[in-house]
Amino acid sequence: MSSNSHKLHVVFFPFMAHGHMIPTLDMAKLFATKGAKSTIITTPLNSKILLSHIDTFKKLNPTLEIDIEIFNFPCVQLGLPEGCENVDFFTSNNNEDGGYMFFKFLMASRFLKDQLEKILEATRPDCLIADMFFPWAIEAPEKSHVPRLVFHGSGYFPLCVAHCIRLHKPQNRVASSCEPFVIPDLPGDIVLTQEQIIDGDDESEMGKFFIEVRESEVKSSGVIVNSFYELEPAYADFYKRFVAKRAWHIGPLSVINRGLQEKAERGKKATIDKVECLKWLDSKKQDSVVYISFGSVASFKNEQLIEIAAGLEASGTNFIWVVRKNTGDKEEWLPEGMEKRTKGKGMIIRGWAPQVLILEHQATGGFVTHCGWNSLLEGVAAGLPMVTWPVGAEQFYNEKLVTQVLKTGVSVGATKHARFKRDFISREKIEKAVREVLVGEEAEERRRRAKKQAEMAKAAVEEGGSSFNDLNSFIEEFSS
Ligand code: UDP
Repeated sequence: MSSNSHKLHVVFFPFMAHGHMIPTLDMAKLFATKGAKSTIITTPLNSKILLSHIDTFKKLNPTLEIDIEIFNFPCVQLGLPEGCENVDFFTSNNNEDGGYMFFKFLMASRFLKDQLEKILEATRPDCLIADMFFPWAIEAPEKSHVPRLVFHGSGYFPLCVAHCIRLHKPQNRVASSCEPFVIPDLPGDIVLTQEQIIDGDDESEMGKFFIEVRESEVKSSGVIVNSFYELEPAYADFYKRFVAKRAWHIGPLSVINRGLQEKAERGKKATIDKVECLKWLDSKKQDSVVYISFGSVASFKNEQLIEIAAGLEASGTNFIWVVRKNTGDKEEWLPEGMEKRTKGKGMIIRGWAPQVLILEHQATGGFVTHCGWNSLLEGVAAGLPMVTWPVGAEQFYNEKLVTQVLKTGVSVGATKHARFKRDFISREKIEKAVREVLVGEEAEERRRRAKKQAEMAKAAVEEGGSSFNDLNSFIEEFSS
């Protein structure tokens, strides 16, 4: 910080879902390591998750300032079930119909607005970095003259895709929902179908909500992006030129977690002991294990899980497979005897995995991912080729970045966004994609590219790197 600047105070306000809270906590830690004071706003149950991580961070860095502000969130009064303070609450039971609850939860979160106003008025921070899912969070900072920044949680590429689709509506000019179209204006001739895009209907409730999101972004002071320039230079330039007023990229955020405990404890408490997991990986050859996870929200019906199990077994490869099933379920999703047959070769984690720890291990050689932005970037930072299996949200856009731009991925062949009837992916397709990503000449090419991208990610956050510089200029600007 320059001599005429004071200690920067940043307030972070993440949407209550792991895919948003995890990178926000990383961001708060990153700002704290730069000498800023970070305050994270959240609800009582979510604060318990965050507090344990913050305690670990403070033990490692006793002089750094990072705190939590807890807002009241009376679920029952807001028409939600008791304890429903996180998207995880209604998606963790492998129930595919989370759309209705998601919207209800989104609307209920507006209740937090008054409390936000009060805290900004009372503390007058230098800026508020609020989640895109809180478009109403623009009014409170306006009243107290606090600059508001938006955090989408996704990268430049998907944000640019969404912009071009919104602007040109190419999906309205095709004869059928599965007819491919090239996204107009966007560099790279990126191809999508109507079935792969986020709900483009502005008349729907969700459509209206997204209009509000865009309007609040226009009024904001800019956007903070979890990415690094070298990953998607054409799209970073495009975004800054045509989409957002201002944007700063400061990622990959996951690399702020340097110690074993910090890496193992991201998000929820892992349902496997980290030492046991590492020991298992240590016993495997380099690049011989494939890690399969679909993030913190997506879930599959039993028939699809059975197919994944069969595909993995048939591939003959070592694997770690995370299944978001409550323990105590009758395990009708697991082919009989599969775990015994694959003993020593496969590990099934029921619940939550220490993902970053697994991805970074030298034995891990491939990542079957739903292409959530955090997972994608964690895969990039770990130098891994990927099997892409998008499910919903902006994941089909992210898939295109991996397969068409970065050229480090093999698509499993999913064709439809979760708002349509889900594809059924056969065991044969799964087996083929897993083999393809691990072995062969093309696999080596992909791996070589992935390792190069990981080096660029590392360099971006080091002194003089693109993310390092963007973060510094942000801090400089907002603390003076
Ligand atoms: N994650 C994890 N363990 C799991 C599942 C997910 O640590 O078993 C973390 C993952 O590392 C990532 C986040 O949860 O940081 C998921 O975010 P992403 O954007 O990939 O997907 P989402 O959950 O939002 O669909």
